[in-house]
Amino acid sequence: MTSFRNLIFHITSIFTLIVSGCSTAESGAERAPAQLGSALEIVNGECVNPDSSNNQTDKLDVVRAIEQCPPSTDACATPVQNRPIAPALGPQKYGIVLLNFDGSPTPAWTKPAVSLKILGEVGAFIYRSSYAQARLSGKVFDWQQIRLHDDAYCSDIEAEIAKIDAAAQGELLGFKRRIYLFPSASRCTWKGKSSVNGERSLTMLNGWPDELTIAHQIGHTLGLRHSHGLACGSESYGHDCTRVEHADPFDAMGARTQGQFNAFQKDLLGWLPPSAVQTVTASGRYTIAAFEFLASRPNVLKIPVRTHTNGSKDFLYIESRQASGDEPTVALESEDSNLFAGVLVHLGSESDPNSSALINMTPAHRGPDTANFIRAALVANKSFTYPLDDTHSVTITTESVSTTEATVTVQF
Ligand SMILES: [Zn+2]
Repeated sequence: MTSFRNLIFHITSIFTLIVSGCSTAESGAERAPAQLGSALEIVNGECVNPDSSNNQTDKLDVVRAIEQCPPSTDACATPVQNRPIAPALGPQKYGIVLLNFDGSPTPAWTKPAVSLKILGEVGAFIYRSSYAQARLSGKVFDWQQIRLHDDAYCSDIEAEIAKIDAAAQGELLGFKRRIYLFPSASRCTWKGKSSVNGERSLTMLNGWPDELTIAHQIGHTLGLRHSHGLACGSESYGHDCTRVEHADPFDAMGARTQGQFNAFQKDLLGWLPPSAVQTVTASGRYTIAAFEFLASRPNVLKIPVRTHTNGSKDFLYIESRQASGDEPTVALESEDSNLFAGVLVHLGSESDPNSSALINMTPAHRGPDTANFIRAALVANKSFTYPLDDTHSVTITTESVSTTEATVTVQF
């Protein structure tokens, strides 16, 4: 077997799109809806550690070379590499501040409407996605005037909001996570933007936000990075892979649909109770419940595939999404997705929160469009083999998938 320790993974597409240099300290920025169609276009404002190399010999080391910046502008002087994510259990508090531009009429959004949208509707998504272990709470504060007009550029708006946030006082100081919502700014291209995994978080929403945008930004405030896809040419996994930023179409931390966060992301957040996850270290036949709801059997299989010299592990996660959950069925079916006919396999490293990678089980779908992971599921009677080292591997075969459970065999 080929030595997989000598694989060189090319991440040129990622580096081309990521803002190199960290002076902007932009994290988790999402562009306007018209640009959400292609995952490859979305990366904006994330930082690359300037000392990192994209020519390393280990895929996960390469993944570690890409980091998002925490909130402050000097963030990249001390990159937050491998910083663990704190469990997000119980109430998650947000102070929501409404901003209005100079010269604009009083916006139509009422405080109850904003509360319902963010804390209510997206809060319900977080509640379900966390298996009732996390919930959003908080308060919507009064409108404040911002000393700019609605044709201001993003950078000016961000600077002004940073000033407003730094001058926060009174009850707002009690909220370490703050969301600033302002009317749509015509020259600002992103819809939402948030700091990632900071002690405090600052989120900005440009215009009346859709649920996906809010859920995605909330994920950032909890510490999540993006859910990526692994593109390996005509293979599901192999010698020449590109990690495609944002490309997991089934996860709100991707960019396409507001599906629940994937199993790796939930594991980072502490949302997988012991009963929901089964660690697999022996060959056998395993049945998992549909991913979206806790059941009498586990929802996730977690297969250790590598142990690093520091003791941290990489895992394959297997989950079975079903239409009865949060998954946006209509959108997926219209794109000929095979999501509900198979299981999803993600690769992730417990020491790297930015390592969520969906493995594409139909890599040739739609030809050279490597950003398309809409048929990534491993359907019945199909197998996937992942190398453990030079001589060993693990093979996952889907036996059956129903609306309530899926059965796979795992062969070491
Ligand atoms: Zn993002």
